[in-house]
Amino acid sequence: MPNIKCTVTECAYNSNVMCDAPMIQVNHSGAEQSGTSEETQCETFKPKA
Ligand code: SF4
Repeated sequence: MPNIKCTVTECAYNSNVMCDAPMIQVNHSGAEQSGTSEETQCETFKPKA
């Protein structure tokens, strides 16, 4: 898994502003075709317990 920097520190997989998940899934967000990064979202996000 390449290094993935992620500032979503409230995610259970986040460790020191890096993603620690074994894999992530990223989907379109609110669009059938994404044209900007805002139109993508991390499906693997899980809130901290
Ligand atoms: S699973 Fe997604 S939101 Fe959570 S740390 Fe990894 S990249 Fe960020």
